[in-house]
Amino acid sequence: MGFEDKRIAIIGGGLGGMSFLNAALYAGLKNIQLYEQAPQFAEVGAGVNITSNANRVLDAFGLQESMTRKSSRKLPCYMEYHNYKNGEYLGHIEEFSQPPARLLHRAHLLDSLKERVPESCLNLGKHLASIERNTDAGAAPYTLKFQDGSTTEADIVIGCDGIKSNVRRDMGLADSPNYSGQVVYRGFVDYKDLPEETAQLLRKTVNFRGPQRHVLILPIGNQETGTDRAAIIGFMSETLDSWDSESWMSRSEISSLHEHVRDWCPQVQDIIEGLRKGSPDGRMLKQALYVRDPLDKWYEMKSGQKDSGIILLGDSAHSTLPHQGQGTCMAIESGIALATILRHWKNDDLESAFQFYQNLRKPRTDRVTQTSFEAGKLASSDSPDEMNNTFNPDALSERMKWIMEYNVLEDLRAKGADVLDFHDSRL
Ligand SMILES: Cc1cc2nc3c(=O)[nH]c(=O)nc-3n(C[C@H](O)[C@H](O)[C@H](O)COP(=O)(O)OP(=O)(O)OC[C@H]3O[C@@H](n4cnc5c(N)ncnc54)[C@H](O)[C@@H]3O)c2cc1C
Repeated sequence: MGFEDKRIAIIGGGLGGMSFLNAALYAGLKNIQLYEQAPQFAEVGAGVNITSNANRVLDAFGLQESMTRKSSRKLPCYMEYHNYKNGEYLGHIEEFSQPPARLLHRAHLLDSLKERVPESCLNLGKHLASIERNTDAGAAPYTLKFQDGSTTEADIVIGCDGIKSNVRRDMGLADSPNYSGQVVYRGFVDYKDLPEETAQLLRKTVNFRGPQRHVLILPIGNQETGTDRAAIIGFMSETLDSWDSESWMSRSEISSLHEHVRDWCPQVQDIIEGLRKGSPDGRMLKQALYVRDPLDKWYEMKSGQKDSGIILLGDSAHSTLPHQGQGTCMAIESGIALATILRHWKNDDLESAFQFYQNLRKPRTDRVTQTSFEAGKLASSDSPDEMNNTFNPDALSERMKWIMEYNVLEDLRAKGADVLDFHDSRL
């Protein structure tokens, strides 16, 4: 049974959509197409941290070797904290569980996610404009209309089109994302553009913890493949007055980040210099951080048809602030959950399958959204002078353990025992 032969359309080929496509192929869904608006696959920003909970899923797809080849190697701990002003070591968090976190360039992760996908499933330059819900007898449940005038038919639509999702709007959800009060400056530095001592320090994942702002360094890539660089993510409190809030994103002068950290320690000044050396126009990416409130219902059913519907996945359904590095990781977990449920559901009632999926995922993604907001507060400090006394990395680690130690594959096996038919499952 299940929905193995249904025409499934994925909207959006970001890390969420591509993870779901891998999951769908792994689970054995046969009739699946992905539509991405951009003319080619690309990712905004430099680095991404994929933690153990998500690597368990990607390893099941067979991507361990491919990702490890591209990631930074032998990181001594999960995160090390330093005082913003004098650079003093404040403590660290150990890696949580196996497989360890992998830190890599976003484009490299996307390359890994493309490796096992047949070209015939991928449709680029397809900006979804609207979804027609057909009522004529014999017509396909949905006609997807793209901006270039083309159309396609589908039985099930998966909206993986990010926090500004058109699919979500098309479902009548009119809520607006909330500005977090923070912007992020994103760029990367070549280790050769840093003094040796600073380069050594930044070969670890480091957080310079400052007053209502912090600078995070993720080592991405490795020397063996000539791809090693440090991704720099500066989280700064700013009001949105001067922003074009429609775009959320701009190229900003590196000096604008420098203004925030002018009196910070020498290592942070080295980072600013390194950013300048690597940026011919003296600019870097600046992005306003938005998040949506958790959504009550992630899907809609096609009226009069029990095996057709639309559902959201990734940032379109469960966006989160990035302070626990979990947006993509949640999409990866949700992807394997939804694909497995669609493939192995015991009957043809799609609504009960969607509801089971939502019940499995929503408590966890809502909790991640809430705790990521809190983690953002803890990553910086309200009172820098007391910072060294009050800061406790062990407590931070304890707060995140439940995220990293979770195994969605086991959870699916346990909770799905009565409703999923596992006889030909690879789970
Ligand atoms: C500063 C920062 C750091 C982060 N760090 C981490 C981290 O370390 N680890 C982690 O797990 N997460 C991290 N995240 C979160 C992560 O980036 C997102 O959660 C993740 O990229 C969401 O993936 P998505 O595919 O759901 O959405 P998106 O990445 O937004 O992708 C949506 C895709 O849909 C396409 N699209 C949009 N509209 C249409 C349309 N109408 N028709 C067709 N295609 C469309 C877009 O072109 C895009 O390719 C971070 C986020 C930020 C801002």
